Amino acid sequence: MKTLDVDYLIVGAGAMSLAFADQLLSDTSATMAIVDRRATPGGHWNDAYPFVKLHQPASMYGVNSLPLGDERIDTDGLNKGLMELSAGPEILGYFSRVMNEVLLPSGRVQYFPMSHFRGDSVFSSLVSGESTRVNVRRKIVDGTFFQTSIPMTHTRPFRHGPEVDVVSPNGLAQMWRRPELTPPHYAVLGGGKTAIDVVVWLLEAGVEPDAISWVVPRDAWLLNRAFNQPCATSFKMTMGGVMHLMQAMAEAETVEGLFDRLEETQQMLRLDRDHRPEMYHCAMVSEAELALLKRVKNVIRKGRINQIEKRGMLMERGTQPMPPGTLYVDCTASAWSKRPPRTVFQGSTITLQTVRTCQPCFSAAVIAAIEAAVPDQELQNAMTNVVPLPDGPADLLDGTLFSLMNQHQWGQNRDLNQRIRNMRLNCFRDLTTDAQMQDPDNLALLEALRQITPHAIDNIHTLKSKLAAEMMAV
Ligand SMILES: Cc1cc2nc3c(=O)[nH]c(=O)nc-3n(C[C@H](O)[C@H](O)[C@H](O)COP(=O)(O)OP(=O)(O)OC[C@H]3O[C@@H](n4cnc5c(N)ncnc54)[C@H](O)[C@@H]3O)c2cc1C
Repeated sequence: MKTLDVDYLIVGAGAMSLAFADQLLSDTSATMAIVDRRATPGGHWNDAYPFVKLHQPASMYGVNSLPLGDERIDTDGLNKGLMELSAGPEILGYFSRVMNEVLLPSGRVQYFPMSHFRGDSVFSSLVSGESTRVNVRRKIVDGTFFQTSIPMTHTRPFRHGPEVDVVSPNGLAQMWRRPELTPPHYAVLGGGKTAIDVVVWLLEAGVEPDAISWVVPRDAWLLNRAFNQPCATSFKMTMGGVMHLMQAMAEAETVEGLFDRLEETQQMLRLDRDHRPEMYHCAMVSEAELALLKRVKNVIRKGRINQIEKRGMLMERGTQPMPPGTLYVDCTASAWSKRPPRTVFQGSTITLQTVRTCQPCFSAAVIAAIEAAVPDQELQNAMTNVVPLPDGPADLLDGTLFSLMNQHQWGQNRDLNQRIRNMRLNCFRDLTTDAQMQDPDNLALLEALRQITPHAIDNIHTLKSKLAAEMMAV
């Protein structure tokens, strides 16, 4: 067996691993080996449907040292007025540049694509079969924890025979291979971001809203992208949004009440005011996208699909007849697995997870900065309380609480805090530029925020206790 000596062995070459490696490269003189079973860097983006786009601004995605996109504000389309969103192929090209223009030229990073990590510091090439044992001087970094799942590669959670046509969104984009088939009707299966992308794509391609049925097992709360812009370009909206969030957190008596308040300020959106969302996955839309989505009136809310037959769908809560020749588009993959969070720093292992709500790349870069700057493991973990990936509305409580706790801890270390504040991936990075601070309204907003935050934290604890008591009573 071949051997290799490095300081860090990083398993996975997805967005989080690369954001970690990039930050570690700039903050230390460490050597690294990056191992991934895929052929090219970028993780799940390698299998994404061609019309996928980020749902958050590109300026907050990728690695710190290399910008993604041009920091441009879109001037037309459904994202008009907001920071650009990169498309899948652009993201893949970007991660290839990160590897080839940043990581490898440093001479301190080695990359092993098409290599399966088998555990015990051993990986095997999937093409030559050769195994390599890595002598890891410092740590193994697990960049595979989220087990991102996408429709092209997941196992469908419903049965269907060959008599019905079921495709992934990738298959939908391959329709040009079947010009003889123009489906009379589309059924989009799933209530998450992928389904939203597909419905928007079909409508923009000219499909009539009545020719689409949308199966929504659970309605979702959707973040309004206008409130999730980098501070540099959008101080008042973004920080105003944070202020509304803290106010709502401080005053709400229930989780429902919390979301009602966030809906009043239009930070949280939903498809239909008659249907209360049970899902919250940080999916983000613009108001123009939502308006388009609302044109689809055939929304089927009968729970999950068990089976699809020629006559229609057998669902949790009844049968749904469907027009003959319907093309079913499977968007039911859950983007991430529902594993309990793991402590980030455990002995000689680092497990990459989110330490600020819904910010995977920024979180991975912060974990690297902490690895470089903080020698004590207990303190490292105090700075990286894992913000669990949300599933339902109540998860916004922990998402907010742990993000605030971590931020507070970073603030205790001046150098580290400065480094984190300046990160490209930090949406709050230009919070206190001279230009921002010359505006008295901005100063007043920051002061109000400083005052309300402790009340928000207190009330989050109260809301969590109430929820725990309700769970006990059930
Ligand atoms: C369609 C879609 C859109 C998204 N949009 C956004 C967005 O706009 N903003 C945002 O912040 N997040 C977004 N996300 C969330 C997304 O999950 C993260 O941004 C991020 O890409 C996850 O990266 P990762 O590195 O954790 O995982 P992955 O991309 O899954 O990478 C993990 C890698 O580990 C490799 N691997 C696993 N096991 C092994 C093994 N044993 N040996 C070797 N290699 C292994 C896999 O091959 C894979 O390449 C989106 C997700 C999806 C699915």
